[in-house]
Amino acid sequence: MNSELNSLYEKFNQYKDMNLSLNMARGKPGKAQLDLSNGILNPELLGNYKSEDGTEVRNYGVLDGISECKRLYSEILEVPEKNIIVFGNASLTIMYDYISQCMVFGAGDKPWASQEGIKFLCPVPGYDRHFAILEHFGIEMINIPMNSEGPDMDMIDEYIKDDKVKGIICVPMYANPNGITYSENVINRFASLKPSAKDFRVIWDNAYCVHHLSDDADKFYNIFEYADKCGTSDLFIEVASTSKISFPGAGISVMAVSDANIEAVKKRMTVQTIGYDKINQLRHAAYFKNLDGIKAHMKKHAAEIKPKFDIVLETLNKYFSDSDSYKWTDPKGGYFISFDVPEGCAKRTVELCKEAGVTLTGAGATYPYHKDPKDSNIRIAPTFPDLDELKLATEILCVCAEIAELEKNQ
Ligand code: PLP
Repeated sequence: MNSELNSLYEKFNQYKDMNLSLNMARGKPGKAQLDLSNGILNPELLGNYKSEDGTEVRNYGVLDGISECKRLYSEILEVPEKNIIVFGNASLTIMYDYISQCMVFGAGDKPWASQEGIKFLCPVPGYDRHFAILEHFGIEMINIPMNSEGPDMDMIDEYIKDDKVKGIICVPMYANPNGITYSENVINRFASLKPSAKDFRVIWDNAYCVHHLSDDADKFYNIFEYADKCGTSDLFIEVASTSKISFPGAGISVMAVSDANIEAVKKRMTVQTIGYDKINQLRHAAYFKNLDGIKAHMKKHAAEIKPKFDIVLETLNKYFSDSDSYKWTDPKGGYFISFDVPEGCAKRTVELCKEAGVTLTGAGATYPYHKDPKDSNIRIAPTFPDLDELKLATEILCVCAEIAELEKNQ
């Protein structure tokens, strides 16, 4: 047996003997990050339980969110308050629900469910739960490769000539998993899309728009500012949430859309609910106050997680800076590092890691149908483990990737 491989197996077995249980799989905040938001749970924030316009937040009423909460997100997304609706605890629910509504009632044409063979464009690598929603509704997904500025816009322009292509689902800032922020050129190209389908929609998931890792941040572009100039604002369904600002699963989520879309969405909301959780809305608005409050809070998150990103990057550099077959991203924000191992090695790397007690997001998860055509992409989520665990887990990942490569080349 190849002696290099042999000594790697020895190292691997030593890791295995440690009976580790490390997890770099899901993009969850660590405990210290959650503690940053404990102030939201202070009952005093709720004062006399009234929102600024006197609405009693403990009772029914107000369909689209209390105004201080809309104002907070209006500042974050640079969209007028009238174009914002505050929903419940998860933006994924908004996206699922929006697509479900398009399937049943359509988006300005026949219901999607009654149109044969509809398709969505999916920038890859991307977010597994986006793909899960589309797959769940039987919408065919088409991979659109990402480059350093965003998705391949020429390819998108080509695909949308087909009126079966009903939309695209994307993360324009600090994308999951590669941390890429769309350039102004890409934003302009999105704003000037001319799809054949008259019921085409862009799900614009701005999950990470305030999640900078340092002062050297990417620029936020408000898609509506560009789309308004091109008359395409109705195409965009923007969503965001405080999941990774306050508490995942216990924060607030929002949708920002054009005047026409807001009317349509509110109309069906009146059937769906009497209103979302205004108690949580009030305490979030009272705690963060405004965009400056959010920015100051996100700096505290960055102080917690930047060292974690650095440790992963340092370790990847230590092992692979001399090799062209390994590539990884060095994002300025968001929650993930995207790591490309040599073609055909991702599944084996993840499998070896599992054997050694390190859980990673499944290989293939960053592609529709779990099919990474090159079997090379691995998503690293550095935020949850503590620093020591993360360093060890990344060392193990690197050793496993080296083993997978050598095994393949044997
Ligand atoms: N969108 C993206 C791109 C994400 O990465 C995540 C979580 O990882 C979510 C949405 C989930 O957001 P929420 O908790 O608001 O459903």
